Amino acid sequence: MSSSKPSRRVQFDPALDDSSADDSSDDDAGPPRSSDPLDDGKGHYESWEDFWRRTSALNAKKAREAGGDPNSEPSAATPALGRHGRPLDRGVPEGPIRCFGCDAPCSTKWECCQCLEIFKRRSVDVPFDTWERAFWCGAACYRDKYAEHAKRHGPSAAPPTRLDGRSHAFEPAEGDGALWDSERLKRETVPDCPAMF
Ligand SMILES: [Zn+2]
Ligand SMILES: [Zn+2]
Repeated sequence: MSSSKPSRRVQFDPALDDSSADDSSDDDAGPPRSSDPLDDGKGHYESWEDFWRRTSALNAKKAREAGGDPNSEPSAATPALGRHGRPLDRGVPEGPIRCFGCDAPCSTKWECCQCLEIFKRRSVDVPFDTWERAFWCGAACYRDKYAEHAKRHGPSAAPPTRLDGRSHAFEPAEGDGALWDSERLKRETVPDCPAMF
């Protein structure tokens, strides 16, 4: 009966706790408190290396699940990269802007309203986001590519960053397809681009 009872120095594990059995000590009701600052009450780490290995693996899993690269968590020093491998600064890739539809060089005059809305939402929670803002050469290209592009307006997730180990989930952007005219500061709904979410 007493053969496999764990030492009381072992950290508390509810599965092993057998408080109904005879227990000669009667002065320590409740789980023992760990003095280890790394012990969050859920994980039982045997060492700093164990803690590091297991939390790194957990963060990598969360990054992959949110569509990120576990080997390059975005931070101020290593910003997320856009479609063409260039660093993103507040969602805008460094260097020449290219149309999200046809990839031709373009200005930042026309931007997809839904993608911008999602960017704004995400930027509240994610300081170094992987979300790239979508600029377009014009309304005709947007309409041509809308069916494919609009899939991007669905629910999205942000992987953990170096500052924040959590991943975040975001709602889809609503409304008909539209372009934001950054020169006239005006939203232009594009015909034949119905809301998909
Ligand atoms: Zn285009
Ligand atoms: Zn968009």
